[in-house]
Amino acid sequence: MKITLDRAKCTGLGICESLAPCHFEVDDGGVLLVLKETVSESERGEVEEAVAGCPTEALRLAD
Ligand code: SF4
Repeated sequence: MKITLDRAKCTGLGICESLAPCHFEVDDGGVLLVLKETVSESERGEVEEAVAGCPTEALRLAD
């Protein structure tokens, strides 16, 4: 599976980073970095939580 980010919707508060720090990091300028776009089966649960936890629906997870 793969993460896609709609940068126009992202506010950079970092909820996704707190839920899935292996995949997301907000830099010092408040810009979200997707550290790893691909998601393995073992990582899927926490990334799904991060996608669901994003308040602006900026994240998607797709095959
Ligand atoms: S939780 Fe959503 S809005 Fe917040 S930094 Fe992550 S992608 Fe951006």
